[in-house]
Amino acid sequence: MSDPIEDLTAAVAALPDNVPLRRQLATELERAGRTEDALLQLEQLVARAPKDGAARLAQARCLYDVGKYKEALASYDAAVADEVALADAALREKIARAELDPRARIRLVADGPDEKKEGGAVALEDGATIEKPQVTFADVGGLDALKEKIRLRVIHPLRRPDLYKAFGKKTGGGLLLYGPPGCGKTFLARATAGEAGIHFVAVGVEDVLDMWLGGSEKKLHELFRLARQKAPAILFFDEVDAIGGKRSALRNESYRTLVTQFLSELDGAGGRSEGVLVIGATNAPWDVDGAFRRPGRFSDVLFVPPPDLQARVEILKLKLEGKPRGAVDIPSIARRTELFSGADLEHVVDAAVEAALTDSLRSGSVRPIEMKDLDAALARIKPTTTEWFASARNFATYANDGGQFDDVLEFIKRHRLG
Ligand code: ADP
Repeated sequence: MSDPIEDLTAAVAALPDNVPLRRQLATELERAGRTEDALLQLEQLVARAPKDGAARLAQARCLYDVGKYKEALASYDAAVADEVALADAALREKIARAELDPRARIRLVADGPDEKKEGGAVALEDGATIEKPQVTFADVGGLDALKEKIRLRVIHPLRRPDLYKAFGKKTGGGLLLYGPPGCGKTFLARATAGEAGIHFVAVGVEDVLDMWLGGSEKKLHELFRLARQKAPAILFFDEVDAIGGKRSALRNESYRTLVTQFLSELDGAGGRSEGVLVIGATNAPWDVDGAFRRPGRFSDVLFVPPPDLQARVEILKLKLEGKPRGAVDIPSIARRTELFSGADLEHVVDAAVEAALTDSLRSGSVRPIEMKDLDAALARIKPTTTEWFASARNFATYANDGGQFDDVLEFIKRHRLG
C-alpha cells in the first residue's frame, strides 16, 4: 500500500505552490504525530497563504504540542484576526493555561525532546513516563479478539468520532486488562497508542503509591491533566489493584482520599470530548474495588490469556526476527510451550541467543541460533503462568459477580488447570 505522506511529499515537491496539497500534507503529518514536520509545512503554507486561518489554527495546535506556547498564541490570534470562523476557544484557553503554568514537570514534557523522534519514553518526575510508542498491533502476537475489541472501542472512535455520533454510540470509559503476568497487558496498551498514533502516559502504581500517599493527590490530578493536555492520549495505570484495591493494609484515610480522587478523575476523563482513554492493568482484578468497574470508569474488563498455539508461533517468530538462525522448527517449540507467557517465550529466545552469541564470540564468527539452543532453553525454563492460575481459580470462582471472570474459568477448564 502506498504511504499517503510519501505521495503527498512527492507531490508538494513537484508543485511547491499548490496550497491545498500542502495543506493536506500538513494535516496528514499532524495526524501521524509528526508535529515538527507538520510545522515546517505549515510555515511554508502560511508564507504562501497568509490569510489561511485554518493553517494558522493548525500551526497553533502544533506549536502548543511542542511547548512553544507564546508562538502558539500568536498563531491562534492570527487565525482569529483573519476572521476565519474557526476560533477554537478551548484551544486558546488550553494554550494560555499552559503558558502561565509554572509547574516544571509539565514543562519538562512540553518543552522536552519530541518523544517520537527520540524514539524513547520521557520519564516524568514521579515515576511515570510519556511517549509516542513505535510498537503497533503488528508487534503483538495473537490476541486477535482483543485487538478487534480495542479497535472498536478505542481506535475507531478516535479516528471517526463523527460516525459514532451519527449512530448515537457512546464512547469513553476505560478498559481494565487482567491476566497472568507477562502475557502482554502493558505491551497491548502501548501498542494501542502506537496503533492510533497517540501519546501514551504510563504510571506504575506500586512505584508511585508511596509518594502519593506521602501527601499529594495533586500528582494524580496532574497526570490526568497532562494526559488531557496531550490528548488524544492513553493514560495507563499498571498494577491498578494497588490503588483501586480492597487490600486492608491500605485502608487508611489517605488511601481512601486517593481512591475517591481517582474515581472522580476517571469520571472526568470519560466525559465529553476530553480524548483521554484510561487503561488499567492488573494481575489481581478481584482485588479491584467494585466502584472502579461502574459504567464510564473501567467499564470493560478484559482477560488477557497466555498465548495459544498460533499466537506462540507468532510471538516466537517476532522475537527471532532479524537474528541469525539455522533450521529452527518454530511450530515444534510452540507446541511444547503451552501456558508460557509472551515474556516466558522471550526468555526462551534470549537464552538461545545467548548460547549462540557465546559460541560466536569464542570462535570469532557468527554461529546462528540452532534448534539445540532452543531445546536447551526449554529444558530449563518453565511457564510462569501456572502459579497465577492456581490462585486465580478460587478468586474467580468466589468473586465472579455477574460472570465477570467467566473467561478465566473457561480457560482453566479447557486447560484442565483446576
Ligand atoms: P504484563 O503487562 O501482562 O505483565 P507485559 O506486557 O509487560 O506483560 O509483557 C512483557 C513482555 O513480554 C513484553 O514487553 C513483550 O516483549 C513480551 N510479550 C508479552 N506478550 C506478548 C505478545 N502477545 N506478543 C509479543 N510480545 C509479548
